[in-house]
Amino acid sequence: MALKKVSDKQIDQAIQDLHELAYNLWHSWNPAAQRIFQELSPFFWEDTNHNAVEVMNWISGPELKGRLQNPDFYTRVAAVCKSYRDYMKPKGTWADKHAAPLKHAPVAYFSAEFGLHESLRIYSGGLGILAGDHAKSASDLGLPLYGLSIFYRQGYFRQQTSNEGWQQEFYPTFDPARLPLRPVNDKKGNRVICSVPIGNTNVEFQAWAVGVGRVTLFLLDTNLPQNSQFYRDLSAHVYGGDQTNRIGQEILLGIGGVRLMRKLGINPSIFHMNEGHSAFLTLELLREQLQAKKPLAEAQAFVKKHCVFTTHTPVPAGHDKFDRGLMEANLGPFASAMGMSIDDMMAYGRVHQEHPGEGFTMTVLALKMCRAANGVSELHGRVSQEMWKELYPDIQVSKVPIGAVTNGVHVTGWTSPTASQFWSTQLGPKWIDKFRDAKYWKETLESKKVSDAELWGLRTALRRELVEFARRRLREQNLRHNTNDVAMYDNILSPDVFTIGFARRFATYKRAPLLFRDLGWAIKVLTDKEKPVQIIFAGKAHPRDDAGKHFIQEIINITKRVDLFGRVVFVEDYDINVARYLVSGADVWLNTPRRPMEACGTSGMKVMMHGGLNLSTMDGWWREAYDGENGWKIGEDTTASSDQLQDDLDAASLRAVLENQVIPLYYDRGKDGIPHNWLKRVRHAMASLVPVFNTDRMVVDYTHKLYLPDSAKRK
Ligand SMILES: *Cc1c(COP(=O)(O)O)cnc(C)c1O
Repeated sequence: MALKKVSDKQIDQAIQDLHELAYNLWHSWNPAAQRIFQELSPFFWEDTNHNAVEVMNWISGPELKGRLQNPDFYTRVAAVCKSYRDYMKPKGTWADKHAAPLKHAPVAYFSAEFGLHESLRIYSGGLGILAGDHAKSASDLGLPLYGLSIFYRQGYFRQQTSNEGWQQEFYPTFDPARLPLRPVNDKKGNRVICSVPIGNTNVEFQAWAVGVGRVTLFLLDTNLPQNSQFYRDLSAHVYGGDQTNRIGQEILLGIGGVRLMRKLGINPSIFHMNEGHSAFLTLELLREQLQAKKPLAEAQAFVKKHCVFTTHTPVPAGHDKFDRGLMEANLGPFASAMGMSIDDMMAYGRVHQEHPGEGFTMTVLALKMCRAANGVSELHGRVSQEMWKELYPDIQVSKVPIGAVTNGVHVTGWTSPTASQFWSTQLGPKWIDKFRDAKYWKETLESKKVSDAELWGLRTALRRELVEFARRRLREQNLRHNTNDVAMYDNILSPDVFTIGFARRFATYKRAPLLFRDLGWAIKVLTDKEKPVQIIFAGKAHPRDDAGKHFIQEIINITKRVDLFGRVVFVEDYDINVARYLVSGADVWLNTPRRPMEACGTSGMKVMMHGGLNLSTMDGWWREAYDGENGWKIGEDTTASSDQLQDDLDAASLRAVLENQVIPLYYDRGKDGIPHNWLKRVRHAMASLVPVFNTDRMVVDYTHKLYLPDSAKRK
């Protein structure tokens, strides 16, 4: 049957809808929507790191019209646009029912970085990914939330490595017109301009809006001609500058974020600080109250009532701290305008107010000025209580008011297109509404509704996709290194070999080289003829972290060994796209942080929907998740007396678990070639992890524990 001809009117509407869709990152967690942009130009789609705005700019009007005249293509476009419109105008969301007091009293969620999509490089690592996933789940749940962050014109850095394996950073400049950013304008269509005081300078900024489903993220940007070059560059890099740049960025985010909300007439009932970077917002709220002639005590109580805080760092050195001189130079005039001396202000950020030498710690400010605070896993909550107990001298450590909300991941956003299609085919379209339903996952996976053959088919496809991706990337990397024989990269890695993934920031506590502590052992195990193993690494070290760069170099040197060639590879320029390939293709996700340094960790959660298994030290989320059968543990749930000893113990444990348990189980095959006992573990891992370690559960927890309490009193 011939499909009906598509009318001009329908085509015009579809073009308009596609432009709209390109600007809303909802498409990034909707595989059918992504497929449409991909189909428009597969090459450009890959080349732009899946940037729908670039694809729409690139395809000419006449071509798009022509393509939409094809009834099949048009029908799919129309269906996607309809589901987008339905999503944006929901009837009866979770929040309508369970968070009604927030309906006209939204949450303003502040984070120095947001990891939403590979084409929008304004994130450095897990903190940003968490913020992005929080926003996506808030959208899915219908929770009224606005995000606030900075538009970093040069983002975090792009990574290459030299012939010597040394990390090199470069910083391409982004063009907002090629990103899913829309200028924030007032009702008359004029650009909204606000300002923040930094020292004696009034620094002006504009804002960009990013659609994240039903949530809007505002990105502040000081790159305006009326600012001096110094302040135009304030927002250039994620965590790139010195202390002066850092304090300026934090004034912009905290104080500027509140001012933007006011200017736009948005009246948040909760200010959520995701890490201490944005804590100056509490001083701006205090200033507003004092200006309205409230007495100080009342003003402080008001601020506290509206602020909540999530801490992420289990080491004191990881918390931003500014000395008095820097504070005075940058916030002196702001303090005076509030009728405060700089020492009055310093007291808000000092553990011991009376210590004149103590610096100003952003976490201390946040803790003093918030109603509720939390760490990001149970252990991290306790470590944080211990770390900040001096702020609460009159109470027991266990009563220090820092709770815990364990992180999760936004499952549909982190499920690869292949896996997403697989689950939709196997389970029907409803699986994406079931992430908090433990019974559903248990029944689905135990009933063998999905057979072992099908599940193994998925694993094999995902592993092959990863190997193809890695080969492509390595060929490009090595072309740059003048390797004569680039073709040899066509034969590295194998789609049928047991594959370990390791990718994250190369902070030294994550101990990337732990597996190679006994190199002889590693060579023996990786190159075993019957039970071979391959490992794919990726990750960036902070530009000023030479120790982290040495770890990268150590791994790269190993990848170059003749006896390990093609078994260990390092993929450069880790980002969300690389992460998605790795977490979907790896059979085992290796996680080796030195306990208790990993506040939570989230990359291991991303393997869930792909049938991957975790092998991890008992830190962060894993010590809550591990039940003896849903993956493996490295070492015990204890901390050794020294780092050296801890590393030795963990390395030995890792070797033993891999050699005696993980690898044999993987290669224990039935007559049909399928590792049935392995898949039993995969089923149990999915059933036990999916319903817990997702951001729908996490945002619901935040709503009940941090957002809703006392909502009546905030009116
Ligand atoms: C998930 C993710 C992280 C966080 O990984 P951890 O294991 O928690 O350190 C960092 N960077 C990227 C790009 C990610 O996707």
